[in-house]
Amino acid sequence: MQAAPKPQPGIMEIALYQGGASRVAGVDDILKLSSNENPHGAPQSAQEAAREAAGAMHLYPNTDHAGLRAAIGEVHGLDPERIICGVGSDEIIHLLCQAYAGPGDEVLHPEYGFLMYAISARGAGATPVVAPERDRTVDVDALLRAATDRTRLVFLANPANPTGTMIGGQDVVRLADGLPDGCLLVLDGAYAEYVADFDGGLGLAQARENVFVTRTFSKMYGLGGMRVGWGYGAQSVIDVLNRLRGPFNLSNVALAAAEAAMRDRDFAAACLADNTAQRARLLAGLADLGLAADPSEANFVLARFADATEAADCDAFLKSRGIIVRHPVGYGLPDCLRMTVGTATGVDRLLEGLAAWRDR
Ligand SMILES: *Cc1c(COP(=O)(O)O)cnc(C)c1O
Repeated sequence: MQAAPKPQPGIMEIALYQGGASRVAGVDDILKLSSNENPHGAPQSAQEAAREAAGAMHLYPNTDHAGLRAAIGEVHGLDPERIICGVGSDEIIHLLCQAYAGPGDEVLHPEYGFLMYAISARGAGATPVVAPERDRTVDVDALLRAATDRTRLVFLANPANPTGTMIGGQDVVRLADGLPDGCLLVLDGAYAEYVADFDGGLGLAQARENVFVTRTFSKMYGLGGMRVGWGYGAQSVIDVLNRLRGPFNLSNVALAAAEAAMRDRDFAAACLADNTAQRARLLAGLADLGLAADPSEANFVLARFADATEAADCDAFLKSRGIIVRHPVGYGLPDCLRMTVGTATGVDRLLEGLAAWRDR
C-alpha cells in the first residue's frame, strides 16, 4: 500500500485556531463576549441587502467586487483600484503570506500579536518571529531589532488584539522608515473604526509602497458571519494578491451586505459612540472591583488577575452564569480575561457577574 501524502513543511507546526466559545451546557440565556462581535448585531440596511441578494444565489458573484470597492473608496477617500476584498481580513493576511513569505523567510509580529499571523506564515512555509512587547504594548524598537534581511512581512494590529492598546502615528512611521528594503509593514486595522478620527494607517499606505493596511467588516460593521475584509496598499502589491485570490471568493450575499453596511454611516457613528461610552463604564466598573486593566482603544478590555488560576476561576464562574469571555492562554496572557464591550445591559450583566464572583 502507498504511504499517505506528506504536507508541505511548516503545516504540521500550526496549532489549530480556537474560536471564541458561544455555548454553555445547561444555560439558555448566553451573553457572548468572547469574539469582539458587535453587540448591536448587523445593520438593518445590510440585512435587507443580503435578503435581496439571496434571491440571486443561483448566479455566480462578480469577480471584481467593483460595487463594494467603490463604496469603500468613497467612504475612505481611496482609489478603488488599490483595494482588494477577501473572505475576512484573515484571507488578506493569508494571501500576503502566500505571496511574500516562503521557506527561509521570516514573518515578524509582536509578542501578543493576532494568532492568524503565525498560522498563515507557517502555512506558507515561513518562520514566524516574535518581538517582545512592553507592558502589553507594541515596542517599535524591539520590532526593529528583530527585523533581519530575511524579514518579508511585519504584522501589527493597531489597536492590538488581545491587549486593546495602540501605538501612535509617529511610532508607526518610525517603524516603516526603519524596516529593511523589500519588507512589507502590514497594519491590521480590525479595530481602527473604534478610534475616533483615526485612519488606521490608510494615509501611510497611500504614500508608501512598504505599508499595507487590512480592514474588516467583522467588528464595527457587525458582519462577522458574512466573512468580508479588505486590504489597501500599493498597486504592485494589490496586483500580486489578485493573482492568488480565488475569483469567486466572496458570495453575492456577502458583497451586498458589506456594501450596504459600508454606506450606512449612521450605523457606524452610533456604534462608535456607544462603544466609547460602554467601554468607559466597563473600565470604571473593573476599577471599582479592584481589577486592573489597560486603557483600551478597541471594543474589548483586557482585565488582569492575580494569576492564571484566578483568571480561570473567574472565567468558569462567569460561564456558569451564561457569560462567555475569552481566556487568552494561547496568546501568552493566562492571567487575563478579554471581555468584549457589550450594550449597556450587557455591561451591567458582566459587572454584576464579576461582583458576584468577587463576593463568592
Ligand atoms: C477580529 C480580527 C480580525 C478580523 O478577522 P476577519 O477575518 O476579518 O473576521 C483581524 N485581525 C485582528 C487582530 C482581529 O482581532
